[in-house]
Amino acid sequence: MPELPEVETVRLFLDQHILGKTISSIEIFSPKSFVGDQKNAINQEIVFTSRLGKQLSLHLKNGLILLFHLKMTGQVIIGDSVFGHPTPKEDKSILPNKSTRVVFTFSDHTKLFFNDQRKFGWVKVLDKDELVEAQKNVGVDVLSSAFTDKYFYQQLQSTSRSIKVVLLDQSKFAGVGNIYDNDALFLSKINPSISSNKITKKQAKVLRQNLIDLMNESLFHGGSTAKDNKYIHPDGTIGEHQYHFRVYQRSGGPCLVCQTPIKRIKIAGRGTFYCPRCQK
Ligand SMILES: [Zn+2]
Repeated sequence: MPELPEVETVRLFLDQHILGKTISSIEIFSPKSFVGDQKNAINQEIVFTSRLGKQLSLHLKNGLILLFHLKMTGQVIIGDSVFGHPTPKEDKSILPNKSTRVVFTFSDHTKLFFNDQRKFGWVKVLDKDELVEAQKNVGVDVLSSAFTDKYFYQQLQSTSRSIKVVLLDQSKFAGVGNIYDNDALFLSKINPSISSNKITKKQAKVLRQNLIDLMNESLFHGGSTAKDNKYIHPDGTIGEHQYHFRVYQRSGGPCLVCQTPIKRIKIAGRGTFYCPRCQK
């Protein structure tokens, strides 16, 4: 699932390639994947982009917003004179393909494909009030200045759920998903099963910094294209942070610190990877 660095990588691509372009048509192949009246977005220029957690906003000249959530398998792919006709790595098919749900065409004939194999993702046309309503349960973005040591520690103290699960709570820490959750706990030498409210102030400080550092490191690598190969860049290439995973998807492999085999367990149904020696 695309997490903060993956969605931010997509946003930066879109900033470079579709800012200032005007939408001339929107084709919807899957009604479930598009919410709202697409007519309101026609003949509108994309004036800026923004991101909150894993949600991406394209702001239109008339004040409306196209809000994207990629969920499990969503992809945003651009076809233009720079990239040519894009071919996603996973199936080599020309777009639109069987996973294409929405196609945006711009007045210069550039196309933006919203692909989503599992159909959990969506695009919504919203006004500003509807955007606020849609994001009212989204917490503090972990790359924002509001994600302070104080906020982080307070949120951890407020629940006895396992730290692994609490970090995934988008109403507290927007943008964290399973990859960076697992790896940040490893770097912080914290056992994923322990209760969130047992984390000390000192541990919280270290964990917060590791989360931020990992997000920035992954962003530098263009995000993570994990084993499912679902996350790709808008030009069809893949991210490279998967070559830098610490424990995520490395079960049985040696711990990078002590060589103990990395263990995989499930906590609240989520795959959890950790070093039983470093993260006691
Ligand atoms: Zn270890």
